[in-house]
Amino acid sequence: MTHTSLSFDRALKRWLSTIERLDPETVLLDESLGRILAADLSSDIDVSPFDNSAMDGFALRARDIAKASPATPIDLEVVTCIAAGDYWEGTLQARQAARIMTGAPLPAGADIVVKVEDTTKADSDQHVRFSSAASRGLNIRLRGEEIKAGERVLASGEYLGPAAVGLLAATGYVQVPVFRQPTVAIISTGEELIPVGDTPTRGKIRNSNSHSLAAQAQAAGARVRQYASIPDTLEDTVATFRQASTECDIIISSGGVSVGDFDFVEEAVQSLGDLHFSTVKMRPGKPQVTGMINKLPFFGLPGNPTSAYLGFELFVRPAILKMAGHTRLQRPVQTAVLSHDIKKRQGLRYFMRGRVRLADIQEPAEPSSSANAQDRAHSHLVQVTGNQSSALLGSLHEANCLLVLPEEETELKAGTVVKCIRLDMEERVEL
Ligand code: AMP
Ligand code: MG
Repeated sequence: MTHTSLSFDRALKRWLSTIERLDPETVLLDESLGRILAADLSSDIDVSPFDNSAMDGFALRARDIAKASPATPIDLEVVTCIAAGDYWEGTLQARQAARIMTGAPLPAGADIVVKVEDTTKADSDQHVRFSSAASRGLNIRLRGEEIKAGERVLASGEYLGPAAVGLLAATGYVQVPVFRQPTVAIISTGEELIPVGDTPTRGKIRNSNSHSLAAQAQAAGARVRQYASIPDTLEDTVATFRQASTECDIIISSGGVSVGDFDFVEEAVQSLGDLHFSTVKMRPGKPQVTGMINKLPFFGLPGNPTSAYLGFELFVRPAILKMAGHTRLQRPVQTAVLSHDIKKRQGLRYFMRGRVRLADIQEPAEPSSSANAQDRAHSHLVQVTGNQSSALLGSLHEANCLLVLPEEETELKAGTVVKCIRLDMEERVEL
């Protein structure tokens, strides 16, 4: 148990070390998008299963038109027409061609497809005219070009994007083994909270965190179980945490983690399991309570809407991804040039809501060494979005990134190159 305040990097490492990947399950192909494959899968067939045409045109023997030119065109006899899904039993003989459609099996004897646009009508309706030669293999897609029977299609641990779903479909996988998605318990604490559909009476506010956190969990690929907000008592907090620990895979709470008279989250975790740490040297969101309840990971976020949101983004999102089998847990990070000065407190890592945009850059006089990292940084400017109070969500909605300002800095001048986590990019990179 650590009661001392941890650096952001140590806290994240410590927290993620308690997170384990969930077991595999089988889902239908059309439900596998966004999941992580839980087994190596191989193909039952060659893809494509036969040599076929890449164009609408004519299949023929390349040597039959080797001497064709505009001055000396060559006419070949058209002996059949092969549509996609069809096949032709025959074998092309010398000076014969087959009309063929994209995806139709190449007839025996043919070694080239000339697209229809490169042919002209011959004098006879039974013939087609060629005015230039072409080399063998043109416009033919070979059997097994994508993948051969028995070869691995995708490996365990790979992310299933739309193209992967297509590969699995082409290789016959109606069902797909993937790692289970975590179910996240979302619990808001606070006597002041009322349901969103109600109008606040004196001293009350709408419970917005439960909904933003549920949305974040869903966006990260998790299932969500929302609990009614709980009053600020130890008994209620313990009872709800205990119940959640039997119904979910990971428990997230908001509020009740500071040092107010009615903050019971830390005590509840201690009474039900192990407390790991309770403060992180960061802003916003210094208090962040983590631990294990009933062998499940628990993360207690601060109540202020932006602190809760950022705590989720920076700690809970990677945990959800790890549970679901991902190995790349972070959003893309880029560098950008600060467009104004920023003052900060030393010793805390700041995460400020910002907006990165492409700078109006002059074309370099000499385009030679323009592709290095520093130049890329200079191609983007970043500025913070409005009021950074941790109670305000509007400036987060405006943001497309989080500026990451290092602990040791106290003053960053306009022109400084800073790191920005792109909140608008889903792609995952190594943490
Ligand atoms: P706490 O961390 O419980 O001290 O709460 C800090 C601030 O966040 C207080 O102003 C709360 O009213 C507010 N807050 C706490 N929980 C929520 C919530 N679920 N939705 C919106 N605001 C909240
Ligand atoms: Mg509270």
